[in-house]
Amino acid sequence: MTRSDDLHPLVVVGAGAAGLMAAIAAASVGVGPILVLERSRDGGRKILISGGGRCNVLPSTLDPRDFVTASSPNSLRKLLLDWPLAEQRFFFEAELEIPLALEEASGKLFPVSNRARDVRDALVREVRGSGSSIRFDTSVEDLVPPKASGAPWTVILSDGQQVDARAVVLASGGLSVPATGSDGTGLRILARLGHTVNPLYPALTPLVAEPPVHSDLAGVSLEVTLEVPGVRGRSRVRGGFLFTHRGYSGPSVLNLSHLATLGRAEGRTPPFLVSWSHHTVDDWDDRLRENPGSRVRAVVRESLPQRLADRLIDEAGVTSETSLAQLGRADRRRLASLLGAYPLPCTGDEGYRKAEVTGGGIALEEVNPRNMESRIRPGLYLCGELLDAFGPIGGYNFAWAWATGRRAGLGAAQNP
Ligand SMILES: Cc1cc2nc3c(=O)[nH]c(=O)nc-3n(C[C@H](O)[C@H](O)[C@H](O)COP(=O)(O)OP(=O)(O)OC[C@H]3O[C@@H](n4cnc5c(N)ncnc54)[C@H](O)[C@@H]3O)c2cc1C
Repeated sequence: MTRSDDLHPLVVVGAGAAGLMAAIAAASVGVGPILVLERSRDGGRKILISGGGRCNVLPSTLDPRDFVTASSPNSLRKLLLDWPLAEQRFFFEAELEIPLALEEASGKLFPVSNRARDVRDALVREVRGSGSSIRFDTSVEDLVPPKASGAPWTVILSDGQQVDARAVVLASGGLSVPATGSDGTGLRILARLGHTVNPLYPALTPLVAEPPVHSDLAGVSLEVTLEVPGVRGRSRVRGGFLFTHRGYSGPSVLNLSHLATLGRAEGRTPPFLVSWSHHTVDDWDDRLRENPGSRVRAVVRESLPQRLADRLIDEAGVTSETSLAQLGRADRRRLASLLGAYPLPCTGDEGYRKAEVTGGGIALEEVNPRNMESRIRPGLYLCGELLDAFGPIGGYNFAWAWATGRRAGLGAAQNP
């Protein structure tokens, strides 16, 4: 093993959203030369693929109740609202010079350029411009706490080198999309150092059906209301739905997918019920009686994409040329039920390979909200996705990474 003789005031592990922001914030209060260690060849790889390559930098509104955590909701609230949304936006627009534009329909903020690369590059430039250095292709294997009061942390690299630091910010992310560099090493290190890792699960991930009974509808998309009855917390959403070759995706499915992954981890298979339009089962029951001369197919196609309408009529065992007058009560009830509360036959999910975030993580009670310092290991500061919190799609998860990253950077810079 080789040990660098330098004692760094601060080492940041991970040059993703949270780590880059932490390094920028720490440098802004003059902590001295900061060293950022990053496993991938250029950092911020999740930023690059975010928002379909456009990077949904922030949401236009932020409500802590939209977030999911097994930790204290009060801790989550404090951490999330620590850096107000308006100030976050100001940072990107005024300091990084990345003007943002609001996408009215979704309430999401994107760079005017629509290029995620601009966001990643500006963050990396800002880190370097503030005198900090980033070592890419450098993987951290372990963290060794100070042996005595006043002694440094030792950061052990995978090539055997050791780096000493007065304080360490760990921003190594969760388990989602491991190809971007985050494989859970940081969580394993933290568990070994005595932290509580609340159960982990893929979140914001597409669902699959095996066999893929709806693969013939792949590509069909529409607005739906999706509901998972009988679970705690937010379990009903309205939003986009997409049929895929293997199952189901789109914002509504992604935003509730954790209820499937968590349910399965606990041995349950919660039902996912879809209302394919604004109409409930009872609304449909009424509509399917209103104009006796109309054909079933014409009435259903008024509210649903044609291919889906035809498929649901077929699944109800109704002949599409049937008129409403010919539709028997049992057939009508069955069809109304498939149109207003369709049980999605999902059997699994795409897992961490496609999950936008990791659910669960380090219990929020174990970080001090004033500076993000670990309450278990002083001198170690935590931020970003490795903490037990995630929000819906829409810029919420970056808002979490920016806010906690900044606070951790400021906190570590003031490490006693
Ligand atoms: C496809 C996709 C699209 C998304 N789109 C959006 C969006 O538009 N808006 C939004 O708000 N959120 C989006 N997200 C979520 C968002 O990207 C994450 O919430 C956010 O990136 C988490 O930031 P982080 O810095 O905590 O973790 P990460 O971004 O995962 O960064 C962790 C960094 O640490 C490095 N690292 C890990 N382990 C080590 C180690 N041992 N040694 C050295 N380095 C290490 C990794 O290489 C990585 O660079 C998306 C996610 C995905 C996967």
